[in-house]
Amino acid sequence: MSLKERDKKHLWHPLTQHKLHPETIAITKAKGCILYDEEGNEYIDAIASWYTCMYGHCNEYITSRVAAQMTQLDQIVFSGFTHEPAIKLSDALIKILPDNQNKIFFSDNGSTSVEIGIKMALQFHFNKGEKRHTLIAFEDGFHGDTFGAMSVSGLSVYNGPFEDFFLEVKRIPVPNGKNDEAILNTLSTIVKTNKVAGFVYEPLVQGAAAMKMHDSEGLNTILRFCKDHNIITVADEVMTGFGKTGSYFASDHMETKPDVICLSKALTGGLVPMGLTTCSEEIYEAFYSDDISKGLFHGHTYSANPLACTAALASIELLQSEAIQQNIEVVIASHKMFNEHIKTHPKVKSTRQTGVIFALDLNVEMKRYGNLRDRLFKFFLEHGVFLRPLGSTIYIQAPYTITKEQLQKIYQVIEDVLEIV
Ligand SMILES: *Cc1c(COP(=O)(O)O)cnc(C)c1O
Repeated sequence: MSLKERDKKHLWHPLTQHKLHPETIAITKAKGCILYDEEGNEYIDAIASWYTCMYGHCNEYITSRVAAQMTQLDQIVFSGFTHEPAIKLSDALIKILPDNQNKIFFSDNGSTSVEIGIKMALQFHFNKGEKRHTLIAFEDGFHGDTFGAMSVSGLSVYNGPFEDFFLEVKRIPVPNGKNDEAILNTLSTIVKTNKVAGFVYEPLVQGAAAMKMHDSEGLNTILRFCKDHNIITVADEVMTGFGKTGSYFASDHMETKPDVICLSKALTGGLVPMGLTTCSEEIYEAFYSDDISKGLFHGHTYSANPLACTAALASIELLQSEAIQQNIEVVIASHKMFNEHIKTHPKVKSTRQTGVIFALDLNVEMKRYGNLRDRLFKFFLEHGVFLRPLGSTIYIQAPYTITKEQLQKIYQVIEDVLEIV
C-alpha cells in the first residue's frame, strides 16, 4: 500500500478538514530546493516548507554540525543546567539582533515564542505593581495557535470555538502610509479607556494574511507611541526573521526597536523545531528580584535542546556568509524583474515585494474564489512547483539557495496559471 493510503489509517493533519481534503502527498526525500514524492515526482519548494528551510533542505553544513553534536550531548534540562551550543547561539544572536536586545529565552515553536512574549509584557507590569491586561494587535495578524497567540491573531475564521476564552485585545489597522493620524487617534482612545500592557505585531509583512505588507514609517510611529505610553512592544518575527526582508530582521527597518522579539521558523534552517523570545535588559530587570515569584515561570521540556541550538548556530553562520548574502541579493533582484514583467497582466490585481518575499493578488471575481485556491495548488504541483496560495494570493518565499533556473520555473508556472483562472 502507498504511504498516502497508509496515512489515512491513523493520522490527523494540521489545518485540514479531512472530509473535504482526504488527499495527501507522501514526500520521501528533500534535498536543496527539491522535494521528491513516493510516485517519483519532483517539486521545487517555492515556500521553503513554510519559510523554514532557507538554506535548502538537508543542508550539509547544518546536518554535519548537528550529527557531530548528536554524539556529544543530545538533551539536558535547561533549568539549572547550561551548555555550549546555547551559549554560542546566544552570542551569535545578540550580535545580529537589534542593539537593544540582550537576553534570550528558549522554547520550541513559533506560537510558544509569542506566548512567552505576551507573558513577558503582562508580567513586566504585574511585577511593577501595575494592573495592565489589555493587548493591542493588528487587524488580520497571525501569531500562532496557542491561546495567547490566538487571542492576538486577528484572522479569526478558525478561532470560533475558543473566542470566549481569549485575552483582552484591541485592534488597530496596519499603517498604509496614509492612515498614521487615524491610527494614532485610535491608539489614544484605546489607552484612555484600557490599561494596555503590550502591542504584539508582525513587523512589515503579515504572512498568514496573504503576505500583506505595510509601511515602515507608520509602524515606527506606532512603536514610538507605545514607548511613550510604556506599552511593551512584542515583534513577532517568526516569519520575517533571518534575512527575509533584506536585512537580518524586519525590525532593522524601523528606528524604534521592539522590547521583545519572537523567533522560530528559519531559526534552525528547518532541520528541527525551536522557538525563542529575546528581550531588552529592561524587560529582564523587571523579573530579576529577591522575590522568587517575580521570575518567569515558563519552561518547555525541550527548551534550548542542544541539537536545535547547534542547527540554529550553523544556520546563522550560513546567513552571515557571503554566498548566502549574495544569493539573497539575486533573489531580490529576480523578484523585482518578475514583478515588472507581471504586474500589468490583466489577470493580476496587484503585486508587492519585501526582500525575498513576493506576492501577487489575482484579479478574479469573488464568486470564482470557491475552489480557486485548490485548483491553483494542484496546477502548481502538476507542473513541479510547491506553492501554497492563500485565497487568491500567490506568494513566493523560496530558499535563499534557489538557482536562477529554479526561480525562472516558478515564475513560469505562475505566468501559466494566469491562463487558467
Ligand atoms: C508560523 C507563525 C507563527 C506560529 O509558529 P508555529 O511554529 O507554527 O507555532 C507565529 N507567528 C508568525 C508570524 C508565523 O508566521
